[in-house]
Amino acid sequence: MPLSIYNTMTRRKEEFVPLSPPLATLYCCGPTVYNYAHIGNLRTYVFEDVLRRTLRFSGYEVRHVMNITDVGHMTSDADDGDDKMQTAAARENKTPWEIALFYEAAFFKDTDRLNIERPEVTPRATGHVAEMIGIIKRLEENGYTYVTSEGVYFDTSRDDEYGKLARLQLDKQRTSRDEVVSDETKRNPSDFVLWFLNKPSHIMKWESPWGTGYPGWHIECSAMSMKYLGDTFDIHCGGVDHIPVHHTNEIAQSECATHHPFVNYWMHGEFLLMNGGKLSKSKLTQQTDDQRPKISTLQTLIDAGYDPLAYRYFCFQAHYRSELNFSLEAMDAATSGLRRVYSLSPNSDPLSGDPTAYAAARERVLNAVYDDLGIPQAVGLLNSYGSFSLWCEFDAILGLDIAERVARQPDAIPEQVAQLVASRNEARKAKDWAKSDQIRNELIALGYEVGDGPTGTTVRSKAL
Ligand SMILES: [Zn+2]
Repeated sequence: MPLSIYNTMTRRKEEFVPLSPPLATLYCCGPTVYNYAHIGNLRTYVFEDVLRRTLRFSGYEVRHVMNITDVGHMTSDADDGDDKMQTAAARENKTPWEIALFYEAAFFKDTDRLNIERPEVTPRATGHVAEMIGIIKRLEENGYTYVTSEGVYFDTSRDDEYGKLARLQLDKQRTSRDEVVSDETKRNPSDFVLWFLNKPSHIMKWESPWGTGYPGWHIECSAMSMKYLGDTFDIHCGGVDHIPVHHTNEIAQSECATHHPFVNYWMHGEFLLMNGGKLSKSKLTQQTDDQRPKISTLQTLIDAGYDPLAYRYFCFQAHYRSELNFSLEAMDAATSGLRRVYSLSPNSDPLSGDPTAYAAARERVLNAVYDDLGIPQAVGLLNSYGSFSLWCEFDAILGLDIAERVARQPDAIPEQVAQLVASRNEARKAKDWAKSDQIRNELIALGYEVGDGPTGTTVRSKAL
C-alpha cells in the first residue's frame, strides 16, 4: 500500500508522489521565538515529526526546512497590533535579538525532549531579508503591489486565485461593512503587508527599495521555503489556524512572484483543546482548578511529574486532523499506556519465531500509518499484538525510545523496597495501621505508588 496523505488544497486523501524521488521536500512553519512554546503548538511539531519519520520509513530522503520567526509576526496574524518580538523585548527589558536567541534555544530544548528530530535546515527570518526583498521586487514588477504610508501591500484583488486554499469567499469579505480594516491605507480587507514602512520605534529594521522598515510575517515563509526547496516543493505543513491567512498569503505571493505552483500537498494539524477551548500561544489558557498544576508549557508538564515522552504518546491518542482534549487524567492514562509498552519483555514476544505472523501484523500496522498517518490505529494494533520487536520496528516512526527504555526497566524492585513491603504486610496482619501508614509514606518518598492488592502491598515505580 502506498503512502497517502490528506491534501487540504483538494480536500482529499491522495497518494504521495514527490517531484524528485527519492527526495521528499517538506516545509513546516516554525516558532515565533518570543515566549516558551505552548503544549498546543508542540502537538503540531509532534505531528510533523511523525510525518518526516514516516517519509523516511517509506524510503524517501527527507529535506525538511523549518523557519525561525524572529521578526515581523504581529500580535494578530492579520498584521494588526505590535511585533511580538518587540513586545517581548519590552516585557523582559532585553533586545529583540536577545529574546529571539533565548526562546529559540528553549524551543529546541523542548523539541529535543519530545524526540522531535531537528529539521535539516532551520533558517532565521532575520538572516533572509535580502531574499524577501527579492520576492517583493518580483511582485512589484508583476504588478501585484502598491505602496502606502504604512507599507508595501499585496493587492489581493489582482490575484484571481487568492483564497483557494481556504476557499474564501472574497466577494463577501470585500463588500462586508462589518469588516474591520485596521489599516485605513489598504485597498481591500484581505490585502496584507509585505514590507512595513514608517515605524520609527521598531528596533529591528533594514534598508529596502521602498524605505527603511521590516518584513511582514507571511513573506518570510515564502522566501525561506523557496530558497532551500525550490519554487515548487512537495509538502507544506502547519496548524489549521494558518489556513485562512498565513498559508493563503504564502500561496498568493509565491505563485504571483514565480508563476509556478508553490506546493503540491498541504497538511494541517488540528488544535489541542483544554477545558473545551482552543489553545494558542497568544492565550496561554491554563487549568483553572487551583488544586491542580497549571499546565501551559512542556516544563510545567515535567514539573507536574510527567515524562516528556508521555506527552508524545498522549498526542498519538487522536489523529492529527482531529481535535485532542488535554487533561491531566488523559496524561495519567497516557503514562500508564506507555508504561505497559516499556514493560514489554523481549524474551516473551508473541510474534517471535513466526515470520509469517510477524509479516502479517507488520503489514496491518503499516497500512494504518500509510493511510494518512493513522497513528492512533497503528498504536491500537501494536498494543493488541504486544510484540516487543514489532513495537521497536515502528519506533522509527513513533520515536518513543522503546528499546532503550525497556532495557532500563529494573528486573526486580530493590531489596530495601522489598523489605519495606514485607514489613508493611506484617503490620497490616497485626492491624498496626499507624505503622502500615508510616511505611506507606516511606515507599511514596522513595518514588513508588503503593496499592493494596489481594496478596498484600503492591508497589510500582512512578518513573517510566
Ligand atoms: Zn509560515
